[in-house]
Amino acid sequence: MHLVNKSQAATRSPADLAEEAEQGVGGSSETGYAAKHTPSAASQATLNTDKLEEVKKLFTAHLENKGLRKTGERYAILEEIYARSGHFDVEELYAGMKERGLQVSRATVYNTLDLLVEQGLVSKHQFGRNLAQYEKSYGYRQHDHVICTECHKVVEFCDPRIHGIQTMVGDLLNFHILHHSLNLYGICGDCRAQAAARSNPA
Ligand SMILES: [Zn+2]
Ligand SMILES: [Zn+2]
Repeated sequence: MHLVNKSQAATRSPADLAEEAEQGVGGSSETGYAAKHTPSAASQATLNTDKLEEVKKLFTAHLENKGLRKTGERYAILEEIYARSGHFDVEELYAGMKERGLQVSRATVYNTLDLLVEQGLVSKHQFGRNLAQYEKSYGYRQHDHVICTECHKVVEFCDPRIHGIQTMVGDLLNFHILHHSLNLYGICGDCRAQAAARSNPA
């Protein structure tokens, strides 16, 4: 299993990095698990610009297909989303845009998000709370989530066996599977340590 959460990547030890070098960047290990791949800051920046252009083109095609206006607000929302990392809710997105001096209405934020989700450029999650969470999805590796029911921390992981199950179930039940949603809920190590400290005060 492979953790794809950024804070995890930032705390990797030199031993991990050596192991990655051995496995080869972007390759896969013998067990079929994808190796960790951390592009340099410079190559990451180029990657993101190219990706943003691709995403914009796809979005333009979608708007044209639906006969919707290609407004500057819609593209500004798309850019804001692709500039963010991790999960966010509508209010965070709206606040982020306001902070950067971008004038958009809440209604436009909501309906643009709906369009992007419909097109598969953004994924929408329900992590056991009322407010939906979103994240960019085009060109990003498929992943699933583990959610702490105490502190609501969300950790991402990637395990190719899940894709295998999806394919197998689709074949077995004669479904063309389009996407899946898998959330695991539990209590994280930090919350369990805090609970233990509370029940055994020194
Ligand atoms: Zn927790
Ligand atoms: Zn995620």
